[in-house]
Amino acid sequence: MEKIQMTTPLVEMDGDEMTRILWKMIKEELLLPYIDLNTEYYDLGLVHRNETEDQVTVDAAEATKKYGVAVKCATITPNHARMDEYELKKMYKSPNGTIRAILDGTVFRAPIVVKGIEPCVRNWTKPITIARHAYGDIYKNTEFHVEKPGKAELVYTSEDGEEKRALIQEFHGPGVVMGMHNMEASIASFARSCFNYALDTRQDLWFGAKDTISKTYDAKFKEIFQRIYDEEFQDKFDAAGLTYFYSLIDDIVARVMKSEGGFIWACKNYDGDVMSDMVSSAFGSLAMMTSVLVSPNGYYEYEAAHGTVQRHYYRHLEGKETSTNSVATIFAWTGALRKRGELDGNEALAAFADKLEQAVVDTIEGGRMTKDLAVITSLKHPKVLSSRDFILAVRDTLEKLIEE
Ligand code: NAP
Ligand code: MG
Repeated sequence: MEKIQMTTPLVEMDGDEMTRILWKMIKEELLLPYIDLNTEYYDLGLVHRNETEDQVTVDAAEATKKYGVAVKCATITPNHARMDEYELKKMYKSPNGTIRAILDGTVFRAPIVVKGIEPCVRNWTKPITIARHAYGDIYKNTEFHVEKPGKAELVYTSEDGEEKRALIQEFHGPGVVMGMHNMEASIASFARSCFNYALDTRQDLWFGAKDTISKTYDAKFKEIFQRIYDEEFQDKFDAAGLTYFYSLIDDIVARVMKSEGGFIWACKNYDGDVMSDMVSSAFGSLAMMTSVLVSPNGYYEYEAAHGTVQRHYYRHLEGKETSTNSVATIFAWTGALRKRGELDGNEALAAFADKLEQAVVDTIEGGRMTKDLAVITSLKHPKVLSSRDFILAVRDTLEKLIEE
């Protein structure tokens, strides 16, 4: 087979620890033999972030704006222990936070569904994608404890001196108060990202909030989604045979549990935080969850939902064999390559991404998998493979698919 050519570079963000080891194996075994890989490489490994005082993360995000598609390896978010371990000049911020701030996106997380790894919810036969609004609400709140009787009020003063004031509570004893906010521009870009992603992946969009109780705050979310849908997306949804609907979050939760999956569930920030953990654990494993950041301007950054798998890395450094699941990282690559292929009209590239995903699924369904899956699979007598042997097994399956 002749190697597939790429016309536009893909932004490649390398990372840390065990996922950095997997990254190299994936490229060598599953990509470079088939594709004349054209990437602009940024090393977001902590050593190089420290050397560049994190400039490399900003450069990588800017490159994503230039080329439109990026693939990212998991990276360490430094804490005190990492400061010592890597002799860091500063406690750098989370790279994902930095990239998200520059691209202003919404994060979509979807499980990779294979036969033999059954979700706890029996009727979920298709993946459920969670779209989480990643700005504001309780994540940017102000709160305090009230010690003695008194009055708590909400006060807003406009730049030109106009004042709005509302009573929160007349306290007769100790209690707690909190203020939080969101911005219409952020809600609107969240809505557009969701509608675009639904069209892109040909899935219905469900959105739930609590506008019966929160008649201004949550009602604003509902209203902005509806307005943007009516003005910009309804025709496209109709043409694609897709639906958008809003309902109360409790009604949505009940419907989700009874559904067969196969849709996008848009969640406010806190709901998305909680519900994505519920959905991912119900589907089986964090190592089978992909994540993509979609900006309102149409930039895409693909990654695995899990971290750098530190514990496995230390075992690897001791020279011991590891059985780390590379599926989500492989799917980060295939997601990015398929998107690159779609944007460039490069059918061979998009078709290769499909084939590689098929090879991963077939390999697992054929009983060859890493340890994390072997302990939860319903398949009889799974063969547990090392990190490298799993990737080689996928290559083996891929070769057969290509020959067909
Ligand atoms: P983690 O890397 O996701 O791993 C937590 C545990 O989950 C592992 O110890 C392992 O369990 C299991 N696991 C996760 N991914 C796996 C895989 N691919 N294959 C097999 N098992 C897997 O989370 P962490 O240990 O809390 O964080 C490690 C580092 O990752 C931290 O420095 C954190 O800052 C970073 N992180 C980065 C991102 C990102 O870049 N997006 C996200 C989260 C965390 P067992 O040990 O029981 O096998
Ligand atoms: Mg959480």
